[in-house]
Amino acid sequence: MYGQIRIEHNLSCKAKPRFEEDLGFGRHFTDHMFMMDFEEGKGWHDPRIIPYGPISHDPSAMVFHYGQAVFEGLKAFRTEKDEIVLFRPDQNAQRLNRSSDRLQMPQMDENFVVGAIQTLVRVDAEWVPRKKGSSLYIRPFVIATEAGLGVRASSRYSFVIIMSPVGSYYEEGLQPINILVESHYARAVQGGTGSAKTAGNYAATLKAQALAKEHNCAQVLWLDAIEKTYIEEAGSMNVFFKINGEVVTPNLSGSILDGITRKSIIHLLKEWGIPVTERKISIDDIVLAYENGTLEEAFGTGTAAVVSPIGSLLWNGTPMVINQGNIGDLVRRLYDTITGIQYGRIEDSYGWTI
Ligand code: PMP
Repeated sequence: MYGQIRIEHNLSCKAKPRFEEDLGFGRHFTDHMFMMDFEEGKGWHDPRIIPYGPISHDPSAMVFHYGQAVFEGLKAFRTEKDEIVLFRPDQNAQRLNRSSDRLQMPQMDENFVVGAIQTLVRVDAEWVPRKKGSSLYIRPFVIATEAGLGVRASSRYSFVIIMSPVGSYYEEGLQPINILVESHYARAVQGGTGSAKTAGNYAATLKAQALAKEHNCAQVLWLDAIEKTYIEEAGSMNVFFKINGEVVTPNLSGSILDGITRKSIIHLLKEWGIPVTERKISIDDIVLAYENGTLEEAFGTGTAAVVSPIGSLLWNGTPMVINQGNIGDLVRRLYDTITGIQYGRIEDSYGWTI
């Protein structure tokens, strides 16, 4: 498929950051990256692992003008037995293809994508950090590289994978976050690109994100673009609420991302016999549950943090403090279970890790 992956070793490897240090997120990059090109008529070709470094493109390359760019995010973990595992990479490969399809970009063989990730992680295995809670963040992306102006689908693309050792999201244990419910700006609309992981979706959120910061909120909670009523998702997380013993999360309406953590959490909740429903949830449902005391927990889910307890929701200028700002039992159980599987402390009976 697409030819053998050629490996060109980096002869001037960087000094690795000391893994006991605060690595932060996305600040350091490993010695190598994966690249492969697409050309109409020729298909995907020349898969290669090469030294990490700048890539140059014609200033008229279509990605710079019309935004054909899709990406993924997943992690490699070093287990307590010193093995390196990936969490559900097949799901990322599938989602990359779904995103590409929405942006009129070419498909890729999903097994090949997973194999390319595995090969790159093996080459840079020493970059998978050892400190508790740390991991190697993997960022596959595809960009349109054809030179030329005029709005149409590019005939050339590059698929690139870069990797970054990242620290624990929670250096001091799970921390509740404040979230601003956004009533003016919208992120995505049904029929739009909200369910694709495409660069422009994120550009469109930055203004609201900056306003949220001014209100001491870590992220924005998006409402649907038409009625400004139904809850969609947070900045880079899906959201869940536990109301009177039942867990609810917005259904995949077409305007939110089909999160892999979300999917895993729904699976676990069902297995544990905890009622979980994917449905439309209005902000009024949440206000009502808050007022009558049945809003027990709220949390976001995503690759970066796994789960983020929501301490308060700022809606129309009034904060709704959830569970007195404490971390709920369910959020803690989910966090311990998923990170347990990722770091090999809990046996993976789901076949999620490879
Ligand atoms: N929503 C958005 C908009 C995101 O960017 C992410 C992060 N990929 C998520 C939800 C969570 O998805 P996942 O669990 O696959 O990381």
